[in-house]
Parts: sequence; C-alpha cells; structure tokens
Amino acid sequence: MLKYLGVIGYPLTRSLSPAFQQAALDHLRMDVEYQAWPTPEDALATRITTMRSPTVLGGNVTIPHKEAVLLLLDDIDSLAARIGAVNTIVNRDGLLHGYNTDAVGFMRALREDGGFEPAGRRVVIAGAGGAARAVAAALLEAGTRSITVINRTLSRANRLVADMAEFAGASELRALPEMYASWAAVMNSCDLLVNCTSVGSRGAEEESPVPIDLISPSMLVYDLIYHPAETQLMVAAHRTGASALGGLPMLVYQGVASFELWTEQKAPLDIMFEAARTAAGGELAEKGA
Ligand code: NAP
Repeated sequence: MLKYLGVIGYPLTRSLSPAFQQAALDHLRMDVEYQAWPTPEDALATRITTMRSPTVLGGNVTIPHKEAVLLLLDDIDSLAARIGAVNTIVNRDGLLHGYNTDAVGFMRALREDGGFEPAGRRVVIAGAGGAARAVAAALLEAGTRSITVINRTLSRANRLVADMAEFAGASELRALPEMYASWAAVMNSCDLLVNCTSVGSRGAEEESPVPIDLISPSMLVYDLIYHPAETQLMVAAHRTGASALGGLPMLVYQGVASFELWTEQKAPLDIMFEAARTAAGGELAEKGA
C-alpha cells in the first residue's frame, strides 16, 4: 500500500524537502510519496488529524507552525520540548510523536562541513526564533563557552535566554538588542557567528543582518539560509577571509535524521545531497539569477 510523508508549512513555496526526501525514498525503492502540504494557520489542526491515518508515516513542519504544532501532538521528545519547536512528526499507530532534528543537523554540519568544534568557544547568534532556539540548545549541549543572542525584538531573545538558562551549565548565555554597539562589543572575541534570522532568504538582494565591517578573518560565519545564491553575509565573510558555511548541509542532515526516524533505515546521504543541490540550482535558474 502506498504511504505518505509530507511537509507542513505556509506558504511553502521554497521547500527543498520534497525533492531530496523523495530521491532517498526512491533510491531505497520504498512505496512512499513525500508531498508538500501547504497549510494556513486555521487548517493546522485538521492537517495534523489527517496524519493519524495508517497511510501516513509522518512529516516535517516548517515556518510558521514549528511552535504551534507542539500542542496538537501526543508526545514530545525531550530535546524538542527544551527547544520549544518540532520539525519532525512520526505517526506510530495513530499517535503522533514530535521531534526536533534541526539541532542535530546544525551540529553535524558545523563539525563535518565547517570543521569547527564548539566546546569552549565563543558564539554570537543573530535571531531568536525557532532555528535560534535549536542552535542554542545544541551549542549548550556541546559545552560552548559563551553564547550571545542578538535579536531585533529583545524580549524574544530574553525569552530564549530565560528558557535555556537551566541547561547552560558553565556556559555564559545572554541577550542583547540589535544595535551596532551590541555587535561591536561581542564580535571582537567571537569564534563563531550564526545567522538564525530569516534575513537573506530572498538571496543577495537583502542586506546582511549583521554589520559586515565587524566580521574578522578568525571567525567562522555560519548562515542557516540555504538560498542557492550567496547571501550578503556569506559574500562579506568570503571577502574578509573568514571561513563560511551555508545552510544547505544543515538542511540535508536534519532531513537525514527525520528520514531515519520515519523509516528506521539508514538514509542515503549522497543521494539526498545531490537532489537538494539540483533542486536548489533549479530554483536559481527559474529566477534567472
Ligand atoms: P522564525 O521563528 O520566524 O524567526 C525569524 C527570526 O528572524 C527572528 O529572530 C526575527 O526577529 C528575525 N528577523 C526576521 N526578519 C528580520 C529583519 N528584517 N531584520 C532583523 N531580524 C529579522 O524563523 P526560524 O524558524 O527561526 O527560521 C529562521 C531562518 O532559518 C529561516 O530563513 C529558515 O529558512 C532558516 N532555517 C534553516 C534551516 C536549515 O536547515 N538550514 C533550519 C531551520 C531554519 P524578530 O524576533 O525581531 O521578529
């Protein structure tokens, strides 16, 4: 019997997940179709109910539903609860289990593609949404020396810090408002800068979310944006001689972790990378960039 997976989000115009998840399912000759499920807010509860069907293995959740979906599931894994966001749902006999694979995807890309070990290092996170929460949780678990969260809406950054404080251990964790003076104070001693804002998701046409004159060659600049064209932040990192890592490896690794939760089979990593790069390249060609 044909089974289904899908990604829930809205408006869901740019998701690469259907392309690289379907490539993995086809490679393993699994009778499963991975679909895009565009779901406005008022249809979220109904969509989640349909996922209890025996024909649905589960799905991914993306912007803007990663936090709202928590209340609609039967069980939340402890890491997802700590982060306060779910990006993966697994249907087991009609009960829906929520996970967050963004944290593991972020960390795997940081270590394997960025060649960066975060233990004992100083990190600046731009943004305080769901992605920033996953990144902060992963970095705290890895024993980062300090994390400074800088966000346009300071109350949101403060909330992240308050929610994560009990997991900080010996790490310093603080929030600052998005002002030039805040950036200048911390960028000097920063080993890793992570852009977790959505600024840059429209590509090079958007300004960098971080003052680019403060980027130094000694830092790794990690932009979670996976737009196929380089963001202004990535361009600036290259120009300065800093190491730079884009969001595509994280996207694929979080998908690998989701795939293994749904299927309990080893995901074909190379196939997924190839399909994600092809889909991202196709999107760029479509825009005539
Ligand atoms: P979110 O919860 O909506 O948070 C968005 C963040 O961006 C908030 O901190 C928001 O600040 C900030 N922001 C938005 N517009 C801004 C602007 N014009 N100037 C300054 N800050 C602005 O979204 P999310 O789930 O955290 O995702 C954030 C980005 O990460 C998205 O682009 C997403 O595609 C990407 N992402 C990538 C991966 C990957 O695998 N590579 C995984 C997850 C997410 P306020 O709090 O002030 O609104």
